[in-house]
Amino acid sequence: MSMETTAWTQLRDVMYAEQERRPLTRATLRRIGAFARPHRPRIVRFVLLGVVTALLAVATPVLAGRVVDAIVSGDDEGTVVRLALLIALIAVAEAVLGILSRRLSATLGEGLILDLRTAVFDHVQRMPVAFFTRTRTGALVSRLNNDVIGAQRAFSNTLSGVVSNLVTLVLTLAVMLTLSWQITLLSLALLPVFVFPARRMGRRMAGMQREAAALNAAMGTRMTERFSAPGATLIKLFGRPEDESAEFADRARRVAGIGVRTATAQAAFITALTLVSALALALVYGLGGFLALRGSLDAGAVVALAMLLTRMYAPLTALAGARVEVMSALVSFERVFEVLDLRPLVAERPDARTVPDGPVSVEFDDVRFGYPSADKVSLASLEEVATLDTRGGEEVLHGLSFRAEPGQTVALVGSSGAGKSTVAALLPRLYDTDGGTVRVGGVDVRDLSARSLRDTVGMVTQDGHLFHDTVRANLLLARPDAAEDELWAALDRARLADLVRSLPDGLDTVVGERGYRLSGGERQRMTIARLLLARQRVVILDEATAHLDNTSEAAVQEALTEALEGRTALVIAHRLSTVRAADQILVVEAGRIVERGTHDELVAADGRYAQLHRTRFERPAMDKAA
Ligand code: ADP
Repeated sequence: MSMETTAWTQLRDVMYAEQERRPLTRATLRRIGAFARPHRPRIVRFVLLGVVTALLAVATPVLAGRVVDAIVSGDDEGTVVRLALLIALIAVAEAVLGILSRRLSATLGEGLILDLRTAVFDHVQRMPVAFFTRTRTGALVSRLNNDVIGAQRAFSNTLSGVVSNLVTLVLTLAVMLTLSWQITLLSLALLPVFVFPARRMGRRMAGMQREAAALNAAMGTRMTERFSAPGATLIKLFGRPEDESAEFADRARRVAGIGVRTATAQAAFITALTLVSALALALVYGLGGFLALRGSLDAGAVVALAMLLTRMYAPLTALAGARVEVMSALVSFERVFEVLDLRPLVAERPDARTVPDGPVSVEFDDVRFGYPSADKVSLASLEEVATLDTRGGEEVLHGLSFRAEPGQTVALVGSSGAGKSTVAALLPRLYDTDGGTVRVGGVDVRDLSARSLRDTVGMVTQDGHLFHDTVRANLLLARPDAAEDELWAALDRARLADLVRSLPDGLDTVVGERGYRLSGGERQRMTIARLLLARQRVVILDEATAHLDNTSEAAVQEALTEALEGRTALVIAHRLSTVRAADQILVVEAGRIVERGTHDELVAADGRYAQLHRTRFERPAMDKAA
């Protein structure tokens, strides 16, 4: 018992560690069932295999008992040899079945990993941009890797452990009862010693598992963040590497601590179980021998009972262990389901429509919008905070209305934070409005299919993102079936063809992570090339403010003018030339359109625009292109 006491003390230490407590619910189990359903035929085969294995496991002790009885009763040698051959045959069969069932459980487990992984990836991809701006990438990647593997472990352990061991246990007990009910009942009296601690142990191990998973994810996040080029640059410039290392080491140490405590607790537990089983064995030999000497039990029965007992305690130990493992691995299932349960805020209607052909108009009709609060778009555990911010929802746009006719350019001007980017984000439906309607080609964007909207509305941001891949792959993202000459034509019009031709591998040159090997202007022109390829009819353009030099700015400007031709455009304008050329200028302040009209009209009106125009555009440095 002293070993067990040690185990409990250690476990209690762990309990001090703070942990999120969520009961493993029936719902979780039901959902696991749903994931297992497609694998049902294999599961049935696996269970059948388990039953056969259990039958074989019980047969050997019974046969061994027969051998002893044959010896004691002076039977002929032939009987003994036949029995021994049978025992050998069973051993071989057990070995073969063992491999088969391991193979089957692996197939099941891997199949499940595959299903879960693809489900999570697919789901996360559909999450709104708001989710990605809040979520820590490392934490998310950890869900996809560690937790999915944990979930798989739970699945195959439940199967291989629980099913076959339960069958073995029941069969063994049945045979033992027929041999001697007194001895069987006495050894059963020791059972509670196994069962009760195992239950409590399972819960505590689950707690430790949760904490370790959270810490592991935190470490992953730290690494992905710090080891990205911009993160590493920031640390080199401002960071204190020693503090960073110390903090990382602290987390790593806590994970190591949990690992040691888990292992120790498990070992202590298993040792205690082994000890109890050894004591029970002594009981069988003592009591069985006593009864055999008295003549009320065969010698063979004593041997069979002893062997069965060792075989019974093995599945019992495994069951207790499996319970612990399954409990902790179920936590992984929960963590995976948690991600799958996040409802994308923006969802496609089942009867979604497509944008009508031809040039399209863009219309905002009394649009009201507030950014969703964190608890609506993310998970506390993915942001590494205890509870999510429930604030938010504060209205940013207060009833905006405007209309851009097909082919028109509408310029949005106004001070920083006025809501211009928010207007731009509502058009490709990165968010849904809280009130009012956004229409493209006269159709509410909420009624459009995601694909049609994507094919219609394009966006050129100040900082064009490039995947770490070839120029070709980065371009093909816009139109996967584009031919080589179309790629070159787009590059040409985006004023990038000469640059790409000069690259060592031309179109097949890998542009570095985050496109670091290209300058800001080149990256932006790449985005324009994408836009030209995608041939979207509506373009949102977030004009670059400062980070381009004169030459690249002129090149970008030229490329843009071409790109916008014949398209309906919404431009967050910073250049006087753009604003002047716009068919309509909207002055946005604090989420409202305070003035609208053409440049000349607004200057003549001498209002907010005229004031902006004086302070911002008339300083020559602010408008190189003008
Ligand atoms: P502009 O583009 O005119 O500079 P924005 O549209 O970016 O202005 O911002 C409008 C308001 O919305 C600001 O008050 C800003 O703080 C807020 N805001 C912008 N993005 C978010 C976001 N992701 N979550 C919450 N609030 C935001």
